[in-house]
Amino acid sequence: MNLIEAKNIQKSFGKLQVLKDISMSVREGQVVSIIGPSGSGKSTFLRCLTQLETIDQGEITVCGETMVHTENGKAVYAPKKTLHDIILNVGLVFQNFNLFPHLSVLQNLIDAPMRIRGIDRAQATETARRLLRKMNLESKENAYPCELSGGQQPRVAIARALAMQPRILFFDEPTSALDPELTGEILKEIRELADEHMTMVIVTHEMAFARDVADHVIFMADGVIVEEGTPEQVFGNSQNTRTQAFLSRFSQNA
Ligand code: ADP
Ligand code: MG
Repeated sequence: MNLIEAKNIQKSFGKLQVLKDISMSVREGQVVSIIGPSGSGKSTFLRCLTQLETIDQGEITVCGETMVHTENGKAVYAPKKTLHDIILNVGLVFQNFNLFPHLSVLQNLIDAPMRIRGIDRAQATETARRLLRKMNLESKENAYPCELSGGQQPRVAIARALAMQPRILFFDEPTSALDPELTGEILKEIRELADEHMTMVIVTHEMAFARDVADHVIFMADGVIVEEGTPEQVFGNSQNTRTQAFLSRFSQNA
C-alpha cells in the first residue's frame, strides 16, 4: 500500500515556481531518499506533504485519504477534520530540529501527543520515557533544549516525532548542522528505524548514507525530479548528465 501518493504537485512563491509537476509515491515500509542541490525545492516539498505549506495544483493522498486534489486548475483541500486525521499519520524532523525552547525535553515529547492526539499525561509520559531510553537520553528528560549538546538535540527531535506514533517519518537534512562524528550517531538512529521498517522520506546530503539506507532515491533539481530509481541505478549507473554532474561535485567536496 502507498502511504504517500503525490501527483503533479505545483507550488510557487510569488513568481518563483519552486515545484514543477512533482509526482512520487512511498510504499509502506519503504525508505526514500531525496537528494539534490540547495534551492531545488526539497524542503518545500516536505512542507507541502506535511501540511506546513499549501500547494497550488496537484493531488496528495496520505494513507489512502485525499488531503488535496485539483478542480479547474486549483488545489482544493479536504475539510479541517480530515486534514487533522491525516496529519496524525506524519511526523517531520526539521532541519534545525525546532525544539520548543521553553519546554523541557519531556514536555517537548508529551505536548503534541496530549494536545493533538488526546493521549492522557500518564500514557504520553510512559511513551516519551521509552523513546528517550531508546535514544539514550533518559537522564535528560528535565533538561531544556539549550542545555543539550549538538548530538542530543537531533535525538530529542527524532524522539519527539516518534512520540506522535506517525506511520511516515520525514527528515529534512537531519545532519546538516552536525559535525561528522555526530552525523554518524544520528545516521545510526535513522538506520535502526529503517531496520524496524519505519516508512521514511529522508532529504540528505549524506550520499553514502542515502545509498545505503534507501530503497528508492530521487534526485531533484530546479523543482523537478530529474531522475529516480534504486540506489544502484542513481548512484552507480546514472546515464543522466545532471545527476552525474551533481554526484561528481559532491564526491569532490566531500
Ligand atoms: P531546498 O530545500 O532544496 O534547498 P527549498 O524548498 O528550501 O529548497 O527552496 C526552494 C526555493 O524556494 C528557494 O529559491 C527558496 O528561496 C524558495 N523559498 C522557500 N520557501 C520560501 C518562502 N516561504 N517564501 C519565498 N520563497 C521561498
Ligand atoms: Mg532544504
